[in-house]
Amino acid sequence: MSKHVPMNPETGLPVGTVALFLGVFKARVALFEPQPGAMAWHCLGCGQVSQNHVFTAAARTEANDHAARCRSIELKPQLTAAV
Ligand SMILES: [Zn+2]
Repeated sequence: MSKHVPMNPETGLPVGTVALFLGVFKARVALFEPQPGAMAWHCLGCGQVSQNHVFTAAARTEANDHAARCRSIELKPQLTAAV
């Protein structure tokens, strides 16, 4: 079961994002603070969401490892100003 991740509509990133990791095919993995004192990551390619971590370093390492392995392609939201 996937967890609901509140997203910032302006950035397209999870609320509380503190770092981004770039995956194999450029899907972003966002490291974010789901609640005070916790850290988690959300892959914007495959949609996977981690468990909450107490230690930022553990969450950051896991996010980076996921970005290094994940082969999904991030689907971009529809842009209002098409090029
Ligand atoms: Zn992924």
